Parts: sequence; C-alpha cells; structure tokens
Amino acid sequence: MSQYVKDLMAEVKAKNPAEPEFHQAVQEVADSLALVLDRHPEYRAAKVLERIIEPERIITFRVPWVDDQGEVHVNRGFRIEMNSAIGPYKGGLRFHPSVNQGILKFLAFEQVFKNSLTTLPMGGGKGGSDFDPKGKSDLKIMRFCQAFMSELFRHIGPDTDVPAGDIGVGGREIGYLFGQYKKLKNEFTGVLTGKGLNWGGSLIRPEATGYGAVYFAAEMLSTKKQTLEGKVCLVSGSGNVAQYTVEKINQLGGKAVTLSDSNGYIYDEAGIDKDKLAFVMELKNVRRGRMKEYADKYKSAVYTELNQNADFNPLWNHKAHCAFPSATQNEINGKDAQNLIKNGVYVVSEGANMPTNLDGVKVFLDSKILYGPGKAANAGGVATSGLEMTQNSMRMPWTREEVDNRLRMIMKSIHQTCVDVSERFGVPGNYVIGANIGGFLKVADAMIDQGVV
Ligand code: NDP
Repeated sequence: MSQYVKDLMAEVKAKNPAEPEFHQAVQEVADSLALVLDRHPEYRAAKVLERIIEPERIITFRVPWVDDQGEVHVNRGFRIEMNSAIGPYKGGLRFHPSVNQGILKFLAFEQVFKNSLTTLPMGGGKGGSDFDPKGKSDLKIMRFCQAFMSELFRHIGPDTDVPAGDIGVGGREIGYLFGQYKKLKNEFTGVLTGKGLNWGGSLIRPEATGYGAVYFAAEMLSTKKQTLEGKVCLVSGSGNVAQYTVEKINQLGGKAVTLSDSNGYIYDEAGIDKDKLAFVMELKNVRRGRMKEYADKYKSAVYTELNQNADFNPLWNHKAHCAFPSATQNEINGKDAQNLIKNGVYVVSEGANMPTNLDGVKVFLDSKILYGPGKAANAGGVATSGLEMTQNSMRMPWTREEVDNRLRMIMKSIHQTCVDVSERFGVPGNYVIGANIGGFLKVADAMIDQGVV
C-alpha cells in the first residue's frame, strides 16, 4: 500500500469511526486509484479523492409512525447526497434493520463510480432507514413510507436527487413513497425511479439489475470466446436482483442451482427453471414467504439453514462455473472465494453491492478469474433508472425492446471501459481497477472543471 493511501485511510478511519463498510469501500477504491494518482498529480493537488470521500450533504431525520394497534414507533431516516459533479444525486433507498450511516455511506460512495460508468448524467446518493418491512402488513408499510417521505420530500426533486429502490424497497414501497411526494408537492414528476408502468415507470426497470449482471458475465465470457450456454450458476438472494438474474441465466441457456434468503438457501441440482422461478416470484413478491418453502414444494431441492457462526457459507461450496452474489454486502469472505475457485467457478458477476470482502477480492484477483465487481456488473439497474428519467423528461415511454437494447449496449460499454482502462494502466483483465479508474476519471475531471465547491 502506498504511503499516500496509508495516510488517506488513517484519516478516513479517524474521521468516520465505527463505519467499517465505508472504510472497506474507500480502501478498495484508493488502492486502485494509486495508479492514476501517480500519473496525474493534478488530481492529488486538487484533493479530488479527499473531496469524493466526504459526502456533499448528509440528511438524518426522525420517522415517527403509528402501527395498526395504535402503537407509536420511531425509526431513523437518512439520505446521503454524496456527489453531484456529473448530475443529480441518484441511488436507491434501503429499508433493513441493519441500515446505519456507515452502510449508506459505503453504498453512496460506490454509487458515484457506478453511475459515472453508465455514461449517463447521474451523480451519486443513497438513503434509507433501519425500518424492517419483513412480516409487516401493507397498511404498516404504507404508513411508514408516508412518514418517511414527509421529511424526505423537501430534500429531493427530479433535478436534485432522484431515489430508487434497494433492499426492502420494491415496487410497492416506491408507489407509497411517490404517492406521498405527489400529495405534498402537488406535482407529478420523475422524482423516483422504479415506478409502476402506468404512472411513469419504465419497462425493464424491475429486470434491469439482474439482467445487467448476466449481460456483464456474458461479456466477460466472450473475452474467452465462451457463452453462458450450459454453465451451472450459483445465485444468492431471492429478491429483485436474484430473481431476474435467474430469469436471464435461463434465457441464455445456463442453469441456476441456488437461491437464498437470510434464513437459509436451497440447492436444486436439476436447475431453477421457468416454472420454479415463477413459484419463487409469487412466494417472495406476493406471499412474502421464506425460501424453505421451495424445498417443501420441489423434492429435487435441498434446503440448508444458515449458520451465523460458521466461517464460510455453504452456498458457495458447490460445483459450478459462475457465481452471481445477489443478496447483500460481505456475503463472500476469503474462504468462500477459495471454495468457489476450488469448485471450478471462474466467472463472478456481482449483482449485490460489495458482496465480496477485501480478502475474497484478493483471492479472485490472484487467481485471475473473470471477476466483475458490483460497481460495473450491477450498474444496469441505475442505468435503466437513468433511462426512466429520460422517458419521464420526454413524457414518452419506450418499448421493452428499446430499453432492453439500450441496457445491453450500456453493459457492453461498461465492460469495454473496464477492459480498456485496465489495459491502459498495465493490469489487463483486472475489472476492479478498470471499474474504479474508469468511474473516477469522469467525476474527477468534472470536479476540476467546476472548481473547489
Ligand atoms: P431485495 O430486498 O429485493 O432482496 C434482498 C435479498 O437478499 C433477499 O433475499 C434477502 O433475504 C437477502 N438479504 C438481505 N439482507 C441479507 C442479509 N443480511 N443476510 C442474508 N441475506 C440477506 O433487494 P435487491 O434484490 O434489490 O438487492 C440485493 C442486492 O443488490 C443489494 O446488495 C443491493 O444493494 C444490490 N443492488 C440492487 C439494485 C436494484 O436495482 N434493486 C441495483 C444495484 C444493486 P430476506 O428476505 O431474508 O431479507
């Protein structure tokens, strides 16, 4: 590690105590950027990285709400407005009990680079709450969303900050949030993305992150003159990203054999085909049940309860060619990464944000597999949100084919940027450095053009 990165990290840790996920995200980027900062002293002189690390604004607020029994609850709401050098703040909202400022700062930081890679004019942001939607009635969810938006509405806008979904925030929550925003502001604008189709949403937005992660894997495979046809794939999670990852794997001739939730995972050697995926979608999106029920219904599947005390996740210990982590951060550690490689996995395309910890990333890079980090591989979601913003501005929807073609072209272009940049900086095939430097350059140049603000 260079002295510059050491000093920078010491300062980041001192100024942002108790935010390990943020430290981890900054560390990975800073290590990659050492190459570009050595070649371009102007970025060091303008303290561009030091400025990117410091959020432009953090909004923290009280979210009080009343449940069906009349009991009062208080949650904490956040919006991290990280960087607006190349466009309005853009990034999802996460509702999960683990949410805190450090987790949202890591997500907002990653979002800055990811959004830049999409080539669309979007800055970086992220927000959410420690509210746990699991097991709550629609009415409770609606009350919470209304309470959350009752404060957030004064900080966002279609040209200022445009939130979307993330863990715990899907179509239902975006609907309630949008309704409350519209009521408070008395305007119908594209202030959120991931909207319903008949009120400003874009076709393919729900599918985009999962589809994009699979397109990215296909691009990486094409560098070896291979396709997804016949490839066995491990997928984690069972939410929005995981579901559409499985759908696209199936469409491209691969076979997905795992899915999970926070209680455990299923391994279905026969493959999660179209009908089984339809069952998962109904289970998770309508009945809001648990993955265990999959193994009750399909005898070809084995369900394994998650052991929180184990030092590895057995989901990553099956014979396969590809892995698509699509649940949450740090779900692959060094041992999991070694298990993946031992089991023949040579393509990892991250649907989730930062699903691999720093030890795991090192294992992937040292073994020179095709490793697509989340910033690049899951950028299809926000890219399609960008396309939704464009359609809202034009007040004209595009067809499914048009949006899907654009998504595919954007994923191709992100892949090409990673390849070109990694070659330019002497580390061909290193998609981590390719994505970090590729995302950084556009933001850094915009920040220099705009002066010290
Ligand atoms: P969902 O809420 O739809 O699904 C999340 C899935 O991950 C669920 O199966 C959930 O299980 C599981 N999960 C969540 N937290 C944990 C945990 N701590 N341990 C184990 N499993 C967990 O979210 P998304 O599919 O939208 O998001 C998944 C990942 O993809 C996240 O990292 C998100 O940041 C990232 N992402 C999402 C984008 C999007 O467009 N939605 C865009 C880019 C990245 P359970 O139901 O038990 O909680």
